[in-house]
Amino acid sequence: MSPRGWALLALAGLALALVVTTALLIPWNRPPAPRADQLAALRALPADQVAHGREFRAALRPGGYASIVVGLLIALALGLTPLGSRLIELAGRPFGGHWIAQAVLGGLAVVLIADLVTLPFSAWRQAVLTRYGLSTNGWGGWVVDLLKSYAVSAVVGAVALLGFYAVIRLAPRWWWAFGAAGAAGLVVLLSFVLPVLVEPVFNRFTPMEQGPLRTELMTMAVRDGVPVRDVLVADASRRTRAVNAYVSGIGPTRRVVVYDTLLREAPPEEVTAVVAHELGHARDRDVTVGTLTGALGAAAAVVALYLIGSWAPLLRLAGVDSVAEPRAFPLLVALVTVVGLVATPIQALISRRVEARADAHALALTEDPAAFESMQRRLATVNLADPDPPRWEYLYSATHPSTVERMAAARAYAREAGR
Ligand SMILES: [Zn+2]
Repeated sequence: MSPRGWALLALAGLALALVVTTALLIPWNRPPAPRADQLAALRALPADQVAHGREFRAALRPGGYASIVVGLLIALALGLTPLGSRLIELAGRPFGGHWIAQAVLGGLAVVLIADLVTLPFSAWRQAVLTRYGLSTNGWGGWVVDLLKSYAVSAVVGAVALLGFYAVIRLAPRWWWAFGAAGAAGLVVLLSFVLPVLVEPVFNRFTPMEQGPLRTELMTMAVRDGVPVRDVLVADASRRTRAVNAYVSGIGPTRRVVVYDTLLREAPPEEVTAVVAHELGHARDRDVTVGTLTGALGAAAAVVALYLIGSWAPLLRLAGVDSVAEPRAFPLLVALVTVVGLVATPIQALISRRVEARADAHALALTEDPAAFESMQRRLATVNLADPDPPRWEYLYSATHPSTVERMAAARAYAREAGR
């Protein structure tokens, strides 16, 4: 069988593995609380707060979607015309067109241009956040954050580009197989090192101070059977007023992180409800499952790019002879951008199901639906959420159930538990 035949077989196998993994590990049969309960929850929220949240979300919307459209157009302009391949040549010219210069400098230049073109929209977003009092870091802090994220992307991007094109040179016929394994490995590695190498670039993390709340949270983790070494507090207040918490990392790098804003804003029983939700993620190994599906998806993407990329009309548009040359990198970026947009609603749907399961876990663990509901109300108030967002936007990109869905879930739990 030819390498192409093997690639088709590998792609089918990876796609099957993805379908089986998501079918088995994602909690699909968890319908949201009845719409009537959601509407009742919506009526329980102050009308002016709902209006304010909607106004804020509406103010973000034009810049947000314009950024997506412009990002797509620039990716297509660079990838589906010879413009991108010329840019790669240009970047390699001072180095005599050496492949490393083309691959790394040219590749980073393409990514940087896409970033710069959408930069005005990021600034717009920051302006809206500042106007509504959600952002606290000022323009200086915003620029520093931006430069830091460019630096992190440049390091990760340079390693990935160098590795990818080195593999192509070493194994011209089978690079897609090694590339797929490498991409999957990179996803796992990033998930593992993100909390210890990348997150500290943006925030300072300190163990939660000793006291009744910390003792209560650690006791709850033990009761839940989830080994947590510590609860970390992030200094999110340097950037935002928003409250949040999350789990990240795998195995020894796994941690539960709460924003300092949450500790400042919310009473202890609500912090407990938030951490119980995060313990749900840890218990169900959501980070590990996410990493596994991400790794399978990345491997499938490399094989698919190899197969689609050898399609002659596409290569002609991009002005290249083969998808394997560094000059074809903009074509790969264009394909990845399109796939990313198509995959967004699927990822959002999976995320909402996983989040709903973590909510259910929090309710069962704390047996305190009242605290859970008031925590949801506080999250919506402080973060200026639309508690019941437009359906189309919810379906396209909402990573969490809506506030009214989560409040209604708490009420349904209270009803069933007879509390
Ligand atoms: Zn969550």
